[in-house]
Amino acid sequence: MLDRLPEYIEPLSFADKRGEVKGKIALSKLTRLSEILADNSGEVTVELFFYRDGRLAIVEGRVNTNLHIICQNCLQPMEWVVDRSVKLGIVNSLEQADRLPEDIDPLLVSDSKILLNDIIEDELLLAIPDFPKHEWQCYSQPIDSDIQSDSSENKQLDSNNPFSILAKLK
Ligand SMILES: [Zn+2]
Repeated sequence: MLDRLPEYIEPLSFADKRGEVKGKIALSKLTRLSEILADNSGEVTVELFFYRDGRLAIVEGRVNTNLHIICQNCLQPMEWVVDRSVKLGIVNSLEQADRLPEDIDPLLVSDSKILLNDIIEDELLLAIPDFPKHEWQCYSQPIDSDIQSDSSENKQLDSNNPFSILAKLK
């Protein structure tokens, strides 16, 4: 049953009990993320620990997965390895969020229960660059391009950023 993750978690009571969640979530269950993936097969491995540091409830751990995202240069699929450390402070107001130490991101909760998938999905969305592209020069250049036309072409690509879908999702 190790792999069976709860749908909802109660982060504050988990923190009091020093709880943990470990397991895998199918990427296809993360609908906002799936919309920007070339292929949503696969899983994300989740390992989260809950504890308190003074009065602050903290969620700390890792999310690992291989995403198939779309290169914004050539619009072909590319693999994006995510191995992201997570450290979230549970807050219920923006003022509280502002007071968090710099290495802790806020997890704003208004209810005692939250969807575990939402936390994981947000972390994965943050792990994807705004303009993902292959490490090599995947976009074919005109044969007679000199350095100058090269740079103007890059500029045009940036302004036509087709990845604005992601910006809208955020
Ligand atoms: Zn590419």
